[in-house]
Amino acid sequence: MESSPQSAQSVDVLVGGAGFAGLALAIALRQGLGPSFSVSVADPALARPANDGRASAIVAAARRLFETIGVWQKIEAQPIRDMVVTDSRLTDVVRPVFLRFDGDVEPGEPFAHMIENAPLLAALAQKAKDEGVKLRPAAVADFEFTPDRVEVRLSDGETCAARLLVAADGARSAIRERAGIASHGFSYEQSAIVTTVAHERDHCGRAEEHFLPAGPFAILPLKRDASLGHRSSIVWTEQTQEAARIVALPEAEFHAELERRFGLRLGEIAEVGPRRVHPLSLSVGRAFIADRLALVGDAAHVIHPIAGQGLNMGLKDVAALAEVIVDAVRLGLDPGSPAVLERYQRWRRFDTVAMGITTDGLNRLFSNQSDVLRLVRDVGLGLVDRLPALKQLFIREAAGLVGEVPKLLRGEAL
Ligand SMILES: Cc1cc2nc3c(=O)[nH]c(=O)nc-3n(C[C@H](O)[C@H](O)[C@H](O)COP(=O)(O)OP(=O)(O)OC[C@H]3O[C@@H](n4cnc5c(N)ncnc54)[C@H](O)[C@@H]3O)c2cc1C
Repeated sequence: MESSPQSAQSVDVLVGGAGFAGLALAIALRQGLGPSFSVSVADPALARPANDGRASAIVAAARRLFETIGVWQKIEAQPIRDMVVTDSRLTDVVRPVFLRFDGDVEPGEPFAHMIENAPLLAALAQKAKDEGVKLRPAAVADFEFTPDRVEVRLSDGETCAARLLVAADGARSAIRERAGIASHGFSYEQSAIVTTVAHERDHCGRAEEHFLPAGPFAILPLKRDASLGHRSSIVWTEQTQEAARIVALPEAEFHAELERRFGLRLGEIAEVGPRRVHPLSLSVGRAFIADRLALVGDAAHVIHPIAGQGLNMGLKDVAALAEVIVDAVRLGLDPGSPAVLERYQRWRRFDTVAMGITTDGLNRLFSNQSDVLRLVRDVGLGLVDRLPALKQLFIREAAGLVGEVPKLLRGEAL
């Protein structure tokens, strides 16, 4: 590693990436281990205000994590009261509902909420600061492993030695690549158009997922805005070329395409957010750990947003890694040692691969024109809809409450 250090520092854990995963992990570690355990987060994005215009579905388990680390109380969230699933062609006048989820996952606890990404990121950054996490507005540029630490060079020229480096630097993780960890996957040749619409009528907390042949069109309820009124977030999947054509349309034509898919249930609609396009892919890291390195969030895995689970999976990584590190350090162990990191990898990798396969299968089953597959899935959805016990199991699974759930996702402090 070439370096001309302006100043060398030493920390217990250095997190590369201040997205949801990186910041939540840093906060959880400080809360679990106290001020004697030093944690830094490095990300060039820390130099500017959060500008992610997206919204995310946060399932019950992930909400418990945010509540336990003390950020949920700082943001506005819209509970999802019920969800309907339809399966039709764009030209169909009526879209029959095949599956409906409603009710709570536990009494008084909705199975998911919708949040806006930017305020949640801002609340996480503020909480991290309050907990004494050192926030550094620079990228992880390079690093080298030595037997007892990892020497990291940041893009501002400073160096930092850590007992553990965590890659939380997103889907195109440079840290993962620099560590030589391959990731397996492919592009879906689909892209998601994301925007926000205001509408005349109240959504009453209903989320809608319309399975159209090009891919799912989701209408996700947002908190009412004082000036814009009732709003929903749109995640609209199309073939990549078609998505590029649609987002480039003049306003009136874009509006017409949107309205064809959105329908009339909520009255007149108006676009009130920027249009953005996100190419979709599936990828899973071949390993989630290396010497003194752990991957979390999109740096470890990227899945199709068909079930709104990407971030929720990343938060499961965070909860598992935080628990493993806190347990180890309390026993006097080195948080970057192979035994500690292997426990994390065993906990998370199988679950991640299973979720990747499930979301991929759902996308293949629904995003196509085949009448045979259409019949199969509609019979399947209809069956699930008629079996309350199976439906409840699906809801608990989607809410992240099935399997070996880490403490933070159960709402327990570390
Ligand atoms: C259209 C769409 C809709 C989605 N909807 C949902 C949903 O409803 N629910 C859900 O659970 N998930 C959803 N997801 C997935 C979710 O958005 C991601 O899983 C989540 O944002 C990943 O968070 P992260 O913290 O791992 O990475 P990111 O949010 O990508 O953060 C990575 C950070 O690392 C920084 N960085 C990059 N390189 C470096 C470096 N070298 N050094 C330091 N820092 C670096 C970046 O600046 C960035 O701040 C959706 C995804 C898409 C595309």
